[in-house]
Amino acid sequence: MRSVLLYLAGAGWSRSLVTNFFLARRAARRFVAGETLDEAVAAARQLNTKGMMVSLDHLGESVHNKEAALSATADYLVLLDAIYANKLDANVSVKLTQLGLDIDESLCVDNMRRILAKASEIGTTVNIDMESSAYTEITLKIFRQLNQEYQNIGTVIQAYLYRSEGDMQQLAQEGGVIRLCKGAYKEPADVAFPEKADVDANYMKLTKAYLSEENRQHRAYLKVATHDPKIIQETIDYAEANGVKPTEFEFQMLYGIRTQTQLELVEKGYRMRVYVPYGTEWYPYFMRRLAERPANIWFIMKNLFTK
Ligand SMILES: Cc1cc2nc3c(=O)[nH]c(=O)nc-3n(C[C@H](O)[C@H](O)[C@H](O)COP(=O)(O)OP(=O)(O)OC[C@H]3O[C@@H](n4cnc5c(N)ncnc54)[C@H](O)[C@@H]3O)c2cc1C
Repeated sequence: MRSVLLYLAGAGWSRSLVTNFFLARRAARRFVAGETLDEAVAAARQLNTKGMMVSLDHLGESVHNKEAALSATADYLVLLDAIYANKLDANVSVKLTQLGLDIDESLCVDNMRRILAKASEIGTTVNIDMESSAYTEITLKIFRQLNQEYQNIGTVIQAYLYRSEGDMQQLAQEGGVIRLCKGAYKEPADVAFPEKADVDANYMKLTKAYLSEENRQHRAYLKVATHDPKIIQETIDYAEANGVKPTEFEFQMLYGIRTQTQLELVEKGYRMRVYVPYGTEWYPYFMRRLAERPANIWFIMKNLFTK
């Protein structure tokens, strides 16, 4: 089921079928704050009042013409203005294929520079999301290049990739700001652990290593992005046992998932950032959320047809 949903996430025919189906649009609202900037600002404001930071994602990926990449960049600049105007405690998350990576690397880097400069002007940060393994190398290369020029940038490492241990070791030495997640794409067994238990074990191994005292001295900062209660508890236990202060790392979760746990972590004094996606291009994001937990399909169907 996971494979089928991840295949459909990239299939154009399925995208137009699903996005034009109004019940699907309603279902997507469980994971997406809305289609407009105003709805995203309202969701972010509400989370801020509950003591949570936010990362706003103006949904979009895999654009194949320059105009679309420039338009996505312009949308991010408007979003940053809105963060400033509304005094939100929020940063932004971007995908490099949304900014033109598949068209021209230098176009993508220039677009990133414009977003980073604006974010820096308003005192916030930009996080580069990680896409499929076809983009890992180039994403890390662009991250490193821009990390030399800007102080306000971070990226993502996926625990399911075999290469991530080596990447994290190097990034820690470079003082990288890293969001660690399990990984949401369909990957072959020669690049990613096929078994969930191995992914979970690797996640914990990478978390502990990144939070070591030596790495923290290099100003390496970790964002523990998971809804997995076991990993969250183990991270807390490890931090407590090793003198890692709650201000020296943060937890991150996705909008609409485990909202009670999000609140509980804030109440316990942990930094919590919620990833808030919005926009009309919600289809692949929505399908990846269904693929993570196919039981969501039945849950959503039940809710749609019983309301
Ligand atoms: C802030 C954030 C940013 C992310 N950025 C990226 C990125 O840049 N690149 C990337 O590849 N992936 C990204 N992801 C997705 C990530 O890789 C995983 O696919 C996703 O978080 C599910 O894994 P998990 O760690 O929650 O653990 P799992 O073991 O999958 O889930 C643990 C528990 O969390 C709950 N849960 C998890 N997913 C769902 C869901 N969809 N619906 C309902 N309940 C759920 C369930 O209760 C489940 O039992 C991000 C995740 C987060 C939280």
